Amino acid sequence: MPFPKINLHIHSNYSDGKQSINHIVEKAIKLDLNYIAITDHFTNSWKAWVSTLNNYETISKYLEEISSYQRYLINNDKHLTLLKGIEVDLASSEQFIKDFIQLDKYDLVLFEYLQSYDTVAFLKNIINYWKKKITKLSDLPILGLAHFDPSYFVHGNLDTLMNFLKEYNIYFEFNSSYPSYYSPRYTSFFEKLEEYKIPVAIGCDSHRRSNLNDIEEPFEMIKYYNLEKNLEILLKTLKSKKLS
Ligand SMILES: [Zn+2]
Repeated sequence: MPFPKINLHIHSNYSDGKQSINHIVEKAIKLDLNYIAITDHFTNSWKAWVSTLNNYETISKYLEEISSYQRYLINNDKHLTLLKGIEVDLASSEQFIKDFIQLDKYDLVLFEYLQSYDTVAFLKNIINYWKKKITKLSDLPILGLAHFDPSYFVHGNLDTLMNFLKEYNIYFEFNSSYPSYYSPRYTSFFEKLEEYKIPVAIGCDSHRRSNLNDIEEPFEMIKYYNLEKNLEILLKTLKSKKLS
């Protein structure tokens, strides 16, 4: 693969993953991955029955643990960059997200279940709120859409969606756990991603170590839809990102 190996969507045992952060990092080093992000679930909605990052104590423990591995990787010259992420369920209440997500603590925020224009408006609102709270735009974490399902938008006005992604610099994730989302019946959607130069990334939604490295298939899809330049945009952002 001519590109760095990235998996920006991994769950640990802080939510519904089976693996500890320690084990994820160890395995990622063995697999020669270049960028990984731990992105545990954050919700006060339907997923509340699984353990999630839903209180200050757990969140700060989680962040501190990832930070310690970030320091370890830097101090030991490992060729692996670890990002501090979180996966926000957009069915959570607005107040819950505003209260608990301290933006400056994260390198990456993924959003799951963007499935309607109402939710686009909801998300805009949240990001605008965050933007007001930071001093400079570069303090914003990288933002991405987790396992976005094109079927909800492909028959509507795609330009509205693309303009939103462009304006807020939100990337689209190719997720190895959801191959049906990359079906040729959504070609018009992927053409729009190319046209609007929307960044794309790879995430495996890894809940166990065995699929930490399932990046080949998403990468093939990126090539199939001529989106290598879009991946480069994301990689550039990753390289320039000062980890928080
Ligand atoms: Zn996930």
